[in-house]
Amino acid sequence: MFSPGKTKEKISKAYSEKKLMMAQQSLVKEMGLNKFTLAFQGDNEKRFMERYFYDSLLQVRISFFLVTILYGIFGILDNIVVSEYKHVFHLIRYVGVVPLLSFVLIFSFSEHFKKVWQLLLFVSFLVAGMGISIMTVLMPDNYLYYAGMMLIFFAGYFFIKLRFFYAFIAGWLTLLGYNVAALIIFNVDKITVLANDFFYISANLIGMFAAYHIEYYARRDFFLKQQLDRQKLHVEEINKGLEEKVKQRTRELELQNIKLEAAKNRAEQSDKLKSAFLANMSHEIRTPMNGIIGFANLLNETESKEEREEFVKIIVDNGNHLLNLINEIIDISKIEAGILELNLREFSLNELLDELHKFFLSDKNVMAKNLEVRCKKGLPDDQSVIIFDRTRLKQVLINLMNNACKFTEKGSVEVGYYLNAGQLILYVKDTGPGLDEEMQKYIFERFMTATIDSTPQQEGSGLGLAISKAFVNLFGGDIWIESKPGEGSIFYFNLMVENGAGKLFKDETYNTKYDMEYNWQDKVILVAEDVATNYLLVQKSLRKTGVKLIWAKNGREAVDECKKDQQIDLILMDIRMPIMNGLEATGIIKSIRKEVPIIAQTAYAMDGDRIRSLEAGCDDYVSKPIDLKSFVELIAKYIDK
Ligand code: ADP
Repeated sequence: MFSPGKTKEKISKAYSEKKLMMAQQSLVKEMGLNKFTLAFQGDNEKRFMERYFYDSLLQVRISFFLVTILYGIFGILDNIVVSEYKHVFHLIRYVGVVPLLSFVLIFSFSEHFKKVWQLLLFVSFLVAGMGISIMTVLMPDNYLYYAGMMLIFFAGYFFIKLRFFYAFIAGWLTLLGYNVAALIIFNVDKITVLANDFFYISANLIGMFAAYHIEYYARRDFFLKQQLDRQKLHVEEINKGLEEKVKQRTRELELQNIKLEAAKNRAEQSDKLKSAFLANMSHEIRTPMNGIIGFANLLNETESKEEREEFVKIIVDNGNHLLNLINEIIDISKIEAGILELNLREFSLNELLDELHKFFLSDKNVMAKNLEVRCKKGLPDDQSVIIFDRTRLKQVLINLMNNACKFTEKGSVEVGYYLNAGQLILYVKDTGPGLDEEMQKYIFERFMTATIDSTPQQEGSGLGLAISKAFVNLFGGDIWIESKPGEGSIFYFNLMVENGAGKLFKDETYNTKYDMEYNWQDKVILVAEDVATNYLLVQKSLRKTGVKLIWAKNGREAVDECKKDQQIDLILMDIRMPIMNGLEATGIIKSIRKEVPIIAQTAYAMDGDRIRSLEAGCDDYVSKPIDLKSFVELIAKYIDK
């Protein structure tokens, strides 16, 4: 009866058998075996034979031991059944075969055996076979010795571990030897020889095919084990890689945690500072406002001219104070919004310092505390002409000088500058109270005064240093302090400026050659930078290399430049820019021109910017203030590929 279930079973069985056969065929191919000799290709054969030798050695010894004894013991049979050729039989056994087999057995303990073992086994098979052949030829009517021949085939093919291919040659040579001896030399009856050949050929065929399969499977096992070992190694390597990745990821996470913790602390601190600032601000604004409103009211009521003049002066003073405060807040807001522009022009730095010196000689703090005000100029007047934003630079110096005069009770205040490694370093030094390390960490933060927890002793919003720092950063420089409590303070800041002759100071003071070593005349760099001074700085830094620059003033312009079909070998990407920031621009550019390397320009100490820029796809970053040498070297790394 037709059963669909059974048919389905049959089909699926046939299908899986077919699959198995196909797998077998592809394995044979993969193994690269010579189908006739069963030898592997190349080094694998050497490795297999090495393995085969050690796996076989014990069996070789046991087989030779047994075969030698048996070959010897059969001499007893000669005594009983052989009469005429007994001495020839004994000669074959005890002078020929047994010594040879014994020698191989003993030699198997030598280290040289490995080199010739298969040859010796082959010779042994052949000699033992020939020995019996001669015996059977000499006594063709005695069938006992034909059984001996079978034993020899048996041992040669399966027992002594001779490789299939050699056993096959030895087996057929023995057969040939027997036929030659029987038919040509000793004229044995043809029917007897034919009958024997039937058996011998069968024995050879069986031995051959069986030995072939035994060796094939030994080789297949070897091959599969090799593959398994390789895969095991591969898995171990993957595991190792995974472990390493997990470790690395853990490290990264730990680092991120530390950063998050620091950010959280900063945010908390900033929050605290903001609240303190608001409280201060309210106080700061109310105080002058109280004065203005109070004295304005009084103005109506008083008749005395002196009193009126005095009240007007108080109102004007308070108004000025309020105006200062509002200006500071506006500056901070402008910086925060990124819309503060630098107004570059040529002026004499020495003149500016002289002006400040004069101005502070009549400062109320200086006069009240009788402070000495000094001014140290680092260059002769004719070389001190620079191109910069005079107003902003003056503002920073006034902030620092104001603080110095405000907080110093006795001694001196000094303003000055000098050149260092091609940079202009300006400083304001005082003999005031100084600041401990803890305070030094925070004074540049917005809304910070050293007296955050209490009512300020000195008037001040806590914005002066924050504004100064923001300005200096905007100039591409940095500001820092050296101070110890009780030993005064020095506030430094560095600037990369041009002098009047259109050269950086660097050229006169430092004769470095690094930028001349590069010739990038055929290269193009796209500079995405919103601040003109910073672009100018890049331009001047790279001018000797001959590189062509394209200036994009914001992220959108940078993307547009990249969309044009033009050569761009590298992009310098400022992160904070109006319209479209550097991170967003990088993302878009990398999606359209993946091959162009992008170097982010991040503000000094803004760790977050660096990480974010790399995440956005930037290849590297450079921190502002830029160190010229490493800046050019970094560009070379990408552009000189
Ligand atoms: P403020 O308007 O309060 O002066 P700043 O940002 O200019 O704000 O200064 C922050 C704080 O840093 C000041 O309140 C003061 O405690 C400290 N500080 C600034 N300059 C000096 C200085 N030269 N000597 C000692 N302390 C200073």
